[in-house]
Amino acid sequence: MSDVKVSEEGKKSLNFIESIVEKDLTEGKNSKRVQTRFPPEPNGYLHIGHAKAICIDFGIAERYNGVCNLRFDDTNPVKEDVEYVDSIKEDIQWLGFHWNEIYYASDYFQQLWDFAVKLIKEGKAYIDEQSAETIAAQKGTPTQAGVESPYRNRPIEESLDLFKRMNEGEFEEGRMILRAKIDMASSNMHFRDPIIYRIIKHPHHRTGTDWKAYPMYDFAHGQSDFFEGVTHSICTLEFEVHRPLYDYFIDELKEDDNYRPRQIEFNRLNLTYTVMSKRKLLQLVKEGLVNGWDDPRMPTICGFRRRGYTSQSVRNFIDKIGYTKYDGIIDVALLEHAVREDLNKIAPRVSAVINPVKLIITNYPEGQVEMLETVNNPEDLSAGTHEIAFSRELYIEREDFMEDAPKKFFRMTPGQEVRLKSSYIVKCTGCKKDENGEIVEIYAEFDPMTKSGMPDSNRKIKGTLHWVSAAHSLPAEVRLYDRLFMAENPSEEKDKDFHELLNPDSLTVLRNCRVEAELAKAKPYDHFQFQRLGYFNLDPDSKEGKLIFNRTVSLKDTWTKVKDKS
Ligand code: ATP
Ligand code: MG
Repeated sequence: MSDVKVSEEGKKSLNFIESIVEKDLTEGKNSKRVQTRFPPEPNGYLHIGHAKAICIDFGIAERYNGVCNLRFDDTNPVKEDVEYVDSIKEDIQWLGFHWNEIYYASDYFQQLWDFAVKLIKEGKAYIDEQSAETIAAQKGTPTQAGVESPYRNRPIEESLDLFKRMNEGEFEEGRMILRAKIDMASSNMHFRDPIIYRIIKHPHHRTGTDWKAYPMYDFAHGQSDFFEGVTHSICTLEFEVHRPLYDYFIDELKEDDNYRPRQIEFNRLNLTYTVMSKRKLLQLVKEGLVNGWDDPRMPTICGFRRRGYTSQSVRNFIDKIGYTKYDGIIDVALLEHAVREDLNKIAPRVSAVINPVKLIITNYPEGQVEMLETVNNPEDLSAGTHEIAFSRELYIEREDFMEDAPKKFFRMTPGQEVRLKSSYIVKCTGCKKDENGEIVEIYAEFDPMTKSGMPDSNRKIKGTLHWVSAAHSLPAEVRLYDRLFMAENPSEEKDKDFHELLNPDSLTVLRNCRVEAELAKAKPYDHFQFQRLGYFNLDPDSKEGKLIFNRTVSLKDTWTKVKDKS
């Protein structure tokens, strides 16, 4: 899965991108400079796939004392917006990276225009007035040469004049385009006179209506790298076939041999049970299938943050999967594993009952309250302790009681002893039901000699249950999440409608939960382990007197169990 190998000294060996960079440095390329960029298009929120790109773009710069800039690839005004620009900046910072400068491809619109004019003047670009369909039909196939456009050899002056008028808004969108004149018979389809400029009338979020002719990705990306002084332009594998064109335009631009950027491609991150295309994520948001980009079920960085994933766990995960030249799909269980591993170290342990039923300790004095000390984190004793109130009336989980229990039910059932976490051993004596047969109260007796820490507390008891005091606990809402999609790889299910693949039970809201009083102090995004239930965080929707928690991840992978059974 990963190409990150551990060498004998126990140090990580280089990934293939680091090897390339080190070789370039050894050979003295680009005056031994390292400069990278992270180039998002501001047309959506960042997802976990982008985090993988961010980690290598910024990581390479950090490792080789170089710089990494943030560059917004804003060449398509129709889909772009400042809302996305702001969210992208926030997410990169949350991941713990720092850019050197912020650039925009739109900063280079004039330079790109001048370069296009230069190519026209040299007979290397021309205005094509054919329809998009005709141009596509003339492209040929990888084994069959394309057909040259009848406009291919039109006079240079004509192309120059039309290009100018294209940008002045004289023509409708699609009426004509600018194409590079390269080779209609090339075995690389991207060389068959690629489109480099098109007309877009929609105002741009930065340049307004200054431009009506906009460069295509292939005519903006490499050139932007060049204008900025990027040395290593790292991107995903689908751009490998674009690399010859990237190099072609750099050759046309560069004035000497002292500097040229190089493109390096790595495998995209795909995760099971989710989608990673911005177009599909936008569709989920627009159709209200999720509650916004930061819905905790979304694979977006802001969704993960809201759900309670830590930036450290996301970075550890990316580190584990590594960078290769082969596309594949990573089991989301690996990401969840990284989340658990990190939260286990940092999350205070607290008590919460999400499906409460009352437990009355009949031999415990009415009105008596004991404050019991509990360890915040057994993995980190420096995290200290806090107190939890114990009293005669408690809540436990409904699932922790059975009236007629099978032999191996080690939880609460009449006649059996269980330990109440951090407090006493109690023996169940019975229960009360309402007219529908629903259990409304459970009864037990406690043994005062078994308080945690007392000599008798060592008695062998098979089950330990979590609980909260009825009078001292606080009401809370708890949101439980499951996979957003039922299909392991939804993007592969081409014959099925996207909607059919959604998991109808991806969100469960529990409104009658009880949490221990300590949680009144919780701040939005704070992490906790609810004993026996999983890791949770306080949702920013919480208000004074209304606590809302998200389940970040369960303690064990329930989904894997389901899969193993089937
Ligand atoms: P989408 O196809 O979802 O719209 P994109 O590739 O168009 O994504 P960009 O904003 O252009 O999104 O991506 C910025 C950078 O992030 C690019 O270098 C791109 O290669 C990288 N990137 C995007 N998706 C992934 C992914 N799933 N795994 C790794 N890197 C990714
Ligand atoms: Mg893109």
